[in-house]
Amino acid sequence: MKNNISKKKKNKEHKKKKESSNMKEEKVYKLLRYEELPEYMKENEFILAHYRAEWPLKHAARSLFSWHNETLNVWTHLLGFLLFLGLTLVHLRDIPQVSHLLDPFSWYIPSNTIENSSYNPGKLFNAETKASLASSSSSSSSSSSSSSGSQSTRWPFFIFLSGSMFCLLSSSACHLFSCHSHGLNLLLIRVDYAGIAVMIVASFFPPIYYIFQCDTHWQLLYLSSITALGLLAVVNLLSPHLSTPKFRSYRALLFSAMAFSGIIPAVHAVVVNWSEPRRNITLAYELAMALFYVTGTVFYVTRVPERWNPGAFDLAGHSHQIFHLFVIAGALAHYAAALVFLEWRDSIGCDHQGKSSSIITATMIS
Ligand SMILES: [Zn+2]
Repeated sequence: MKNNISKKKKNKEHKKKKESSNMKEEKVYKLLRYEELPEYMKENEFILAHYRAEWPLKHAARSLFSWHNETLNVWTHLLGFLLFLGLTLVHLRDIPQVSHLLDPFSWYIPSNTIENSSYNPGKLFNAETKASLASSSSSSSSSSSSSSGSQSTRWPFFIFLSGSMFCLLSSSACHLFSCHSHGLNLLLIRVDYAGIAVMIVASFFPPIYYIFQCDTHWQLLYLSSITALGLLAVVNLLSPHLSTPKFRSYRALLFSAMAFSGIIPAVHAVVVNWSEPRRNITLAYELAMALFYVTGTVFYVTRVPERWNPGAFDLAGHSHQIFHLFVIAGALAHYAAALVFLEWRDSIGCDHQGKSSSIITATMIS
């Protein structure tokens, strides 16, 4: 009898120990308040709670499907990445060399309406396209790319799509896993900033490539300048010192300077294509893009609305989530503009550009 009682007691104690160890485990991975965070995670004092800190990678990965103050930051850019992946697949499907690889997925990838089946496979990554188009315009023959039925090379367009995907995915991974440790936090934050620089540089490729396709010296000058500026920014942003919260405004300034250096080729392009009817459409899209990015950056820097009511926007509606949405909107506006540039260059080849450029050059000389 006594033995039975002591066995029951032992069982009860064993159960209690197990429960308390489970509770300890839960306690380690519960969501924290701002003041409980390790110093390196204290980034936004207006978000008061729902933080994950020092979580194992497995738990951080699982937190993709639970509520904390980074859930919407992860999902906004993860969905943005999937959207751009879908757009990339749609455009890849129009390239004969690649389309057969996508056949198993063809039931859900619609064919691109802008590019048609007369796509010339030789022009995909063919840098010589511009040379042949340039020579066709200089020889004053009427054989522009439109009349020959060929299309401009697509790689600048895919550079933009790839840059956007890299930025959105690295941002998403950063928001999901940077709660793991100080080391990973530093690494992912720097990759995230590098991703923004890559996206900005990549965004320059379609407009500059297609606008100046027949003015190769301008094309080379603008594309190499922005690439050099981007590399400089990446080297700068990879320094641990500059990725600290203290330098938030500096980073915003650096990204804005990169983006706004596009004003120079943009003004040049508008002057060269003053009479081009599609000028206003692309300008409207690019202005919308600039407006989206600027508005997003204002939210990023000012940390509005959470500074007006700390704690009220911890889970949803804080500045970083709004910034993410504006980034996606800006990228989509630029995507729409890139499609117009591509279609325009496909339709006119180099004749129009060559003529207008030479008119401008002649006017400038005289
Ligand atoms: Zn972010």
